[in-house]
Amino acid sequence: MQPHLDHFRALIAERDRFCILSHIRPDGDAYGSSLGLALSLKAFGKEVSVYSEDGLLRNYLFLPGKEMVEKTPAAPPPPEVAIIAVDTSTQERLGETFVGWNRQPDVNIDHHQSNPRFGRINLVDAESPACAQILHDLIDAAGLPCPPEAATNLYVGLMTDTGSFQYRHTSAHTFEVAASLVSRGADPTAIAQRFYQSTSVESFMLKREVLAVTKFTHTNRVAHYRLTQEMYARSGARTDEVENFLEQLQVVGSVEVAFMLEEMEGGKTRVSLRSRGRVDVNQIAASFGGGGHRLAAGIRSSLPPEELEARLLEKIGQALASHGG
Ligand code: 5GP
Ligand code: MN
Repeated sequence: MQPHLDHFRALIAERDRFCILSHIRPDGDAYGSSLGLALSLKAFGKEVSVYSEDGLLRNYLFLPGKEMVEKTPAAPPPPEVAIIAVDTSTQERLGETFVGWNRQPDVNIDHHQSNPRFGRINLVDAESPACAQILHDLIDAAGLPCPPEAATNLYVGLMTDTGSFQYRHTSAHTFEVAASLVSRGADPTAIAQRFYQSTSVESFMLKREVLAVTKFTHTNRVAHYRLTQEMYARSGARTDEVENFLEQLQVVGSVEVAFMLEEMEGGKTRVSLRSRGRVDVNQIAASFGGGGHRLAAGIRSSLPPEELEARLLEKIGQALASHGG
């Protein structure tokens, strides 16, 4: 990372204007990392824009600096504006509008194993449980300020991507970073309440439907469900209100792999996969053109959902068998 860190420092010194982007269907780490870095750069006197293909989703209205988040504009910024991608495994996942800009990001800051290093400067660490952890260290290493609003955003990224400090890659250093962010003004109780105890009744109703159609296969080592547009319509929930549904399947002790297929408007199917540890779901996702991490990965596919479901069950079965199960 060292030469890249030097280049990053130089870029911060040279440029006055920055634009920060993260992935489509943004999560807590995407917004937290974007806004954390944006507020740090702003406090350093830089001019910063934060773009997202999806704009700001409603669950994240509590984030300080939220008013900075804009939908990615059709026209690319002028060349003097440095483009920074955070928490995003491939350029395509920055969104169609960004792809239309035809610009290579100047900096790619990420923690996905499958990241192909698409930036000019790449700060990628697959050992980090959240992009926000990399950013915390980077902000310190580059001598940038970290005001309370930036610390709050980075804490949101860290808390959500580690599943509240449970998932793999949560290390002693992760707790040091959490402590550092709390000492700079992040409030763990307030953030956890805003995030985990604020679902709508519609979202609860959708979760009830999902649990009712969940199937257990492979002697209960695989759990999965299909989420349809009808289920959304019946419950009244929005597409951004399904976060953490899949994790509900992982509470069953026998489940090695949990996955879901969501039929999206426009005919494509979105798949999310989670593994307890033995199966590498990144590999499974990659064989369908997707990617992610060993324990959490995803796919966008144009295959008919029935076929995709059957082929995924087969692949996962093979992966389980190769681990002696
Ligand atoms: P989630 O299931 O939460 O949407 O995504 C889990 C992980 O897989 C995330 O880290 C995300 O970056 C990655 N991921 C999700 N969907 C896709 C996809 O369609 N393509 C690729 N390459 N990665 C994905
Ligand atoms: Mn992340």
